[in-house]
Amino acid sequence: MAKKTIEDVNVEGKKVLVRVDFNVPLTEDGVVSDDKRIVAALPTIRYLLEHNAKVILCSHLGRPKGKVDPKYSLEPVGQRLAELLPDTRVWFATDTIGESAKAAIEDMKEGEIVLLENTRFHPEEEANDPAFAKALASMADLFVSDAFGTVHRAHASTAGVADYIPAVAGFLIGKELGVMGEALENPVRPFVAILGGAKVADKIGVIKNLLQKCDSLIIGGGMAYTFFKAMGYEIGTSLLDENSIDLAKELMTEARVRGVNLLLPVDTVVATEYAADAEHKTVPANAIPSGWMGLDIGEKSCELFRKTILQAKTVIWNGPMGVFEFPAFAEGTKKVAAACADCEGTTIIGGGDSASAVKKLGFADRMTHISTGGGASLEFLEGKTLPGVAVLNDK
Ligand code: ADP
Ligand code: MG
Repeated sequence: MAKKTIEDVNVEGKKVLVRVDFNVPLTEDGVVSDDKRIVAALPTIRYLLEHNAKVILCSHLGRPKGKVDPKYSLEPVGQRLAELLPDTRVWFATDTIGESAKAAIEDMKEGEIVLLENTRFHPEEEANDPAFAKALASMADLFVSDAFGTVHRAHASTAGVADYIPAVAGFLIGKELGVMGEALENPVRPFVAILGGAKVADKIGVIKNLLQKCDSLIIGGGMAYTFFKAMGYEIGTSLLDENSIDLAKELMTEARVRGVNLLLPVDTVVATEYAADAEHKTVPANAIPSGWMGLDIGEKSCELFRKTILQAKTVIWNGPMGVFEFPAFAEGTKKVAAACADCEGTTIIGGGDSASAVKKLGFADRMTHISTGGGASLEFLEGKTLPGVAVLNDK
């Protein structure tokens, strides 16, 4: 069901509580060292300011464990935000639901911002305590959820507040749900899912869900070796999920029954040890020498995968094809990223390491969408209900 967004409601003159993701890195001296997440929240903030709302921002920062800890204050974030919005008055409240917050909100005018102090200074935040959620909600008329990275958590500021005031999605969440939701619910076909990463066990839910929806399923990365084992291949010292061998067999059967084209690597780069400078060579998938470990897919696999990816109208990719952190074993991930970049269909990257791999390898601006939430995007791809999305009002 589609969720309401800020464009579906009247925000004029309203006090709007926006849950943003201002969980940014700070330097030793407490200065924002990377403002990407603040910049990413600006479209929603600007829209609200332009529509004469009173904008109340809240976020967590770091893990202060439910205690006030100046190290995790959002004050430097407020300073950066004020620099990014030079024509807007940005008030910083030194507490989250206390006197400072109430006074600032009382005094603020339309087209101004109040940034509340770190929600996680209160243990009630992560406990999703109703009284805390109610106190937060009572300061506003409307809730806007725009922190995709925490939307899979049922916290007071991501879900609880919606019990007390109307709740809608901001532009960031709207885009995440729109692009990924459309791909999962109503994909333009052929729909190709690419899965990789370290462990099969981590991705069972994602594989199962995508297997029901896609036309082709490409499997690479560390999890491929458990599939090789299930096929009776020797895999040397490659990653093996002993407990998932039977599951791998089941998934291969399910793919066959469903008519999903399951593609596994046909060759692999093997190394003598898990190290950046390890001696390495490419061998066929069914000829991994004993004592060697597979750290990347081989060139033939890259070509095979590329052909399928180029024909796709929708691609969802989660999990690197190899140990991309080591340049010698990044080729597979790079070639698959290049194929996605060259694909004319919709290309979606979900997962924390996948997103950083695509960025690190320089393909970020050639993808349709790179999800901003590692854990949240995985749960979304698993078909799970995200608590912070479930609470938003339906259209
Ligand atoms: P994501 O965060 O995108 O969901 P994962 O966390 O599942 O991805 O997997 C990423 C990790 O998988 C990377 O650190 C990468 O080094 C590792 N990986 C990929 N291929 C292999 C392999 N063949 N052997 C060991 N580790 C691998
Ligand atoms: Mg990861």
